[in-house]
Amino acid sequence: MQNDMPNVVTRFAPSPTGFLHIGGARTALYNWLFARHHGGQFLLRIEDTDLKRSTQEAIDAIIDGMKWLGLDWDGEAISQAGRASRHAEVAHQLLETGKAYKCYATSEEIAEAREKARAEGRNFLGDLWRDRDPSEAPEGAPYSVRIRMPREGETTLQDAVQGPVTVQNDNLDDMIILRSDGTPTYMLAVVVDDHDMGVTHIVRGDDHLNNAFRQHQIYTALGWTPPTLAHIPLIHGGDGKKLSKRHGALGVEAYRDMGYLPEAMRNYLLRLGWSHGDDEIIPTEQAIEWFNLENIGRGPSRFDFDKLDNLNSHYIRELNADSLLSLIRNDLENEIQHSLTKIEEERLIKGLPALAERAKRMPDITENASLFCNTRPLSLSENALKALSGDTPEMLAKVANELEAVTDWNMSVIKAAILSFAEAEDLKLGKVMQPIRAAATGGKQCGDLVETLEILGQEETIGRLRDRIAA
Ligand code: GLU
Repeated sequence: MQNDMPNVVTRFAPSPTGFLHIGGARTALYNWLFARHHGGQFLLRIEDTDLKRSTQEAIDAIIDGMKWLGLDWDGEAISQAGRASRHAEVAHQLLETGKAYKCYATSEEIAEAREKARAEGRNFLGDLWRDRDPSEAPEGAPYSVRIRMPREGETTLQDAVQGPVTVQNDNLDDMIILRSDGTPTYMLAVVVDDHDMGVTHIVRGDDHLNNAFRQHQIYTALGWTPPTLAHIPLIHGGDGKKLSKRHGALGVEAYRDMGYLPEAMRNYLLRLGWSHGDDEIIPTEQAIEWFNLENIGRGPSRFDFDKLDNLNSHYIRELNADSLLSLIRNDLENEIQHSLTKIEEERLIKGLPALAERAKRMPDITENASLFCNTRPLSLSENALKALSGDTPEMLAKVANELEAVTDWNMSVIKAAILSFAEAEDLKLGKVMQPIRAAATGGKQCGDLVETLEILGQEETIGRLRDRIAA
């Protein structure tokens, strides 16, 4: 935490029209990291003004996604729609100071003026009533409220990522801030909310840069200080094209379901647009310490599943056995169709770290973990079946007898017993080990075989070998 910039307030302002997609998650992460780095606040505002497109399911999905990613926000989530009367109040304040005006134009008149401007090659500025006297309007006629944009000169914004960005003021239309039905427009709502929430810094996608110029004029008209803006380039697919589902434009819950860990997602999304030298592995604590706006890249980033997999396998290896077990428990119990017994739990605690060594996603572990459970007779993979063909079951029965004689069930003794059996039978070690592996694991991946037998225990191991004879 740094105190060089007191009272930092950031926010994430999703529109609840769908899940929390990967771009939104990155935006949320950057705002969160910036706030946490400065010991400031990170606020959540649900931009639900578009009542037709906003849904409770989407709000829940966003909130669940944020929680899963570990991006905690300060205070209650704010509903933008719930603040409509405050937005209208500010629109009226602008009317009173003459920074906004009433527009009585009908939709037909506006369509006509827009068409005329297009035909003459001009921008349509929506300014039909800019210089007209409201007394010219018919009694009680409905009106919208439009902001009076500057017509001269240009406006330059200092964006923390893009640098200085300039717009000619005569490109800015007198946009509506309050509709004729009295509802505020999105552009006004964003400015009023950010101001009232005390937001000091906004990180968001660069698809909002055009809005920034228009929002800036609302700040100026109100005499409010605009926040620092950081517009980040959007995420592209690995082929450089706009991100689609195929490229990974999915909701964060899809990543959770694919078996990615939140810590890996945070690290990946951080690196997808922000850098600290060549560092790839940046755990969250370190990210909070290092995060700044200066190191956000200006070029579009490309989504890359291989990189995400690499980071995920790193963070999977960092998990201790208890965490691994609690992450897979549900799926595993579903697969084996019983609650884990004490003895199965003990085996898993010993066996899971070896499975984690080679896993990229959590299902790589779950799919193999049942080998430590009591599911005799094991169902066999095709390869295991092959390894157990011919007279191998008879050989395994002999191995089982040898192993039964072992009095101290540990790796070195088990290994010695198998070695001496191979020698006595004049068999190559592989010829003995391969069928043991097939019978003991059913063809599941595991770490060192002898270690796996030790973990399974003497009775279970021998049972599995003898099951092959009975089969
Ligand atoms: N609600 C907007 C969106 O979901 C974000 C607006 C903003 O960050 O200013 O894209």
